[in-house]
Amino acid sequence: MDLSFTKEEESFREEVRSWLDDNLPAEWRHRGVGGYREDDDEDLQRRWQRMLHEARWLKLGWPKEAGGRGATPVMQAIYQEEMARAGAPMILGRLGVTLLAPTLLGHGTQWQQDEYIDRILSGDLVFCQGFSEPDAGSDLAGLRTRAERKDGKWVLNGQKTWSSGAHYADKSFLLARTSTEGEAHKGIGFFLVDMHQPGVEVRRIRQMTGGGEFSEIFLSGAEVDDRDLVGQPGDGWKIAMAVFGFERGGLAQAARFERAVGT
Ligand SMILES: Cc1cc2nc3c(=O)[nH]c(=O)nc-3n(C[C@H](O)[C@H](O)[C@H](O)COP(=O)(O)OP(=O)(O)OC[C@H]3O[C@@H](n4cnc5c(N)ncnc54)[C@H](O)[C@@H]3O)c2cc1C
Repeated sequence: MDLSFTKEEESFREEVRSWLDDNLPAEWRHRGVGGYREDDDEDLQRRWQRMLHEARWLKLGWPKEAGGRGATPVMQAIYQEEMARAGAPMILGRLGVTLLAPTLLGHGTQWQQDEYIDRILSGDLVFCQGFSEPDAGSDLAGLRTRAERKDGKWVLNGQKTWSSGAHYADKSFLLARTSTEGEAHKGIGFFLVDMHQPGVEVRRIRQMTGGGEFSEIFLSGAEVDDRDLVGQPGDGWKIAMAVFGFERGGLAQAARFERAVGT
């Protein structure tokens, strides 16, 4: 079996490398190696994201019909290796770009796709992920944040934790309980929640390292319109599994971690 890269893959590597040589400023290099860098500059990460978006790198694995490059998993791994080699910064809206945008492509309404996908990719709209709760981590179906219908809207009350980047996010893709009847995982909705509203409070969690990449999110009467419910009110678990598919499928960090430990 021949495991070497094909000619097409080698020329793709050249394309990525030469684009990085031409576009990634020297003073931006060697940031974010090994994953998060807590002191990284948000503005720089936003600018870098916009450059990658404009050069169509952020839809690398997307189907061509959806404006993507239709890159194979090997090409996506090559792209990540070259990013790590160049010491490229992280992008600011990484959770929206890698998890939410492709999920909306599969599960969102036309309105949600038109309203959000381009703004997520360009960095104009930054999303955080509101899944984990103090008593619902590995046991995610045990989540207790409630979403109730009131006056034609969804009203959310509860608490989320470990939400990466929530302190600079504009919106959150968040799981909340829409029903307490029947099996726990069947009564969950998937909501797009505006973080800049009075019913949302974000408190950063200080880590032992001094950094604060995670936050707690307190929801007290936060409101969500119907158009920001993805799927049906009981579809949240199914859609969350799609999100995890993109998270697990992401070859994203392996090359950076390898680089960080010098293998
Ligand atoms: C870098 C990073 C970024 C993250 N970002 C986000 C984010 O943006 N949004 C978000 O919602 N969450 C985020 N998380 C949270 C992550 O998803 C949680 O760590 C996860 O939900 C696990 O919850 P927990 O920490 O409460 O651990 P627990 O669920 O309490 O688990 C603790 C330990 O017990 C073990 N365990 C649990 N249940 C069982 C069982 N039944 N049998 C045997 N062993 C068990 C687990 O394997 C684990 O070792 C992030 C985590 C990390 C590390």
